[in-house]
Amino acid sequence: MKTKELKDLLAGRTIKDQLKELVRLFPGEVLFTTSFGIEDQVISHIIFKNDISTEVATLDTGRLFPETYKVFSDTIKRYKKSINVYFPDYEALEKMMTKKGPFSFYYSKDDRLECCRIRKLVPLNKALNGKKCWISGIRASQSDNRRQMDWIELDEERQLFKFYPLFDWSLEEVEKFIKENDIPYNALHDRGFVSIGCEPCTRAVEKGADFRSGRWWWEAGSLKECGLHIK
Ligand code: SF4
Repeated sequence: MKTKELKDLLAGRTIKDQLKELVRLFPGEVLFTTSFGIEDQVISHIIFKNDISTEVATLDTGRLFPETYKVFSDTIKRYKKSINVYFPDYEALEKMMTKKGPFSFYYSKDDRLECCRIRKLVPLNKALNGKKCWISGIRASQSDNRRQMDWIELDEERQLFKFYPLFDWSLEEVEKFIKENDIPYNALHDRGFVSIGCEPCTRAVEKGADFRSGRWWWEAGSLKECGLHIK
């Protein structure tokens, strides 16, 4: 199937129907990855409430905030569903930390990318193995890089479709949906954190600042992505 065909098929439908259609088209081959940010919590709610049979997975980098684990726990309790956890390869991690210590990501961009690769990219690729469609909570208004994406894309390298159900949503719409449906969310969002990743690499930002500016803030001018969604 071509990207345009899929786009035409899904256009104008509700998110629930779009997800159901994807599961029908690619049975057992649809993955939603959550990092428990508010956008991801909206998507988890729609999937779990409607018993949509996509795999829901998270990448546990080993460096997450306690508040993130709290949302993870609250979410599985609330919906009585499980979320598959993918960990980094322990031998690669042991090697990196033995050689460079626990804060190598502050030393250089290459060191930071090495850590992201071991803790996130490799586990993500393991989760995506054999999948035809990857769902994620990206919104266009989150960053200039994301504005240039499209709500359905083909990931040529991994040979799968990427679908962003909330692509056109504003932050206000996301927050409203979370509130109206009483969905558990990360308490850090109330303390100025917008994009929440690993604890040592994330900080709060001023209201209205760029969505990704609190990530890897010491890398001036860097594209604030960890490689997961770069084309
Ligand atoms: Fe490592 Fe930081 Fe990337 Fe997390 S965000 S994987 S701690 S470099």
